[in-house]
Amino acid sequence: MNWSSFKQANLSLTGLNSSKIGLERLALSRYEEICDRINDFVDSHHDSGWKRRIKKGLDKCILRGCKPISRMLTSGDTSSFGILMYHRVTPRLPDLAEPTWNVTPEQFEEQLKGLLELGFTPVPLSLAVQKHQLGLDLPSNSFVVTFDDGYANNYLHALPVLEKLDIPATIFLATAYIDEQVPFPSDDWSCTGEADPVAWRPLTLEEAHQLNQHSLIELGTHTHTHDDFRGRPQEFQRDLEISLEFMKREFDIVHPTFAFPFGVRRFGFSSDELIRAAKQTHVRSSLSTENQLAHLRQSPYYWGRFTANQADDAQTLAVKLSGWYSRIKDGMRRLAHR
Ligand SMILES: [Zn+2]
Repeated sequence: MNWSSFKQANLSLTGLNSSKIGLERLALSRYEEICDRINDFVDSHHDSGWKRRIKKGLDKCILRGCKPISRMLTSGDTSSFGILMYHRVTPRLPDLAEPTWNVTPEQFEEQLKGLLELGFTPVPLSLAVQKHQLGLDLPSNSFVVTFDDGYANNYLHALPVLEKLDIPATIFLATAYIDEQVPFPSDDWSCTGEADPVAWRPLTLEEAHQLNQHSLIELGTHTHTHDDFRGRPQEFQRDLEISLEFMKREFDIVHPTFAFPFGVRRFGFSSDELIRAAKQTHVRSSLSTENQLAHLRQSPYYWGRFTANQADDAQTLAVKLSGWYSRIKDGMRRLAHR
């Protein structure tokens, strides 16, 4: 498909201007409060070491066990599809701890190239939303690529790979941090102070404009401040509205797609009250980070996403995108609770 004409037909791309709301409108104390809130969450929800190791081991077993049959795991189902979630795409840096939430550019290319070879079809997120609205299906084995937060390396390292493979993607921006030279408060990598800024800095406004004008890229919102909004639907709605004002003013984008910050439903980062608030702002989706397939007959406010890690290759991603990974995990969870 020609993604350029699809994007032009579906999004308004005119009327750029250069005004900006950024971190300067977040008082420093508010910024620190957000950092503290996020750190508290990370501390309180980190599983104990052994529990985390068991979980990781089980995940590896499921993914590796299914690898040999990954070629057969394409489902042929045209009413469901998988959404991949990436964050950072940056090379490893010698002498520094491995960046968190990162896939190296080489591995990113291997993963996506391999998925194409396995018969998966990349589609833009807005096309999936449109198909849902029209009650239509997608090609079988469709998948969507998304990035959270708005790292500069999405522009510098991920975009060339997407161009090479002609794969569309959505980047969800935490709009308060565009043009800032400090790490995102949600960035838990310990080496941001020493590493090349490309590995951690947010996009500049100019880079975001370049991405917005690119035929393969759609910009979505990830709230303005990427705060922890659990139990605070009104503050969440206001923050999302500020982000939408930014998207309209800077990129002339109205009703963008949206993904929840943190996004874990069982921890309350995507909840019915927050989804109700998101709907009030007329965003077109509210994606969670639940590892499950998205169904076109289900509302895009409830679609989940699969995390793509450095440890994934195309075959393990195929296991995730075929729905088998979540099916096996659900089955094991049910057995464990018997
Ligand atoms: Zn995020």
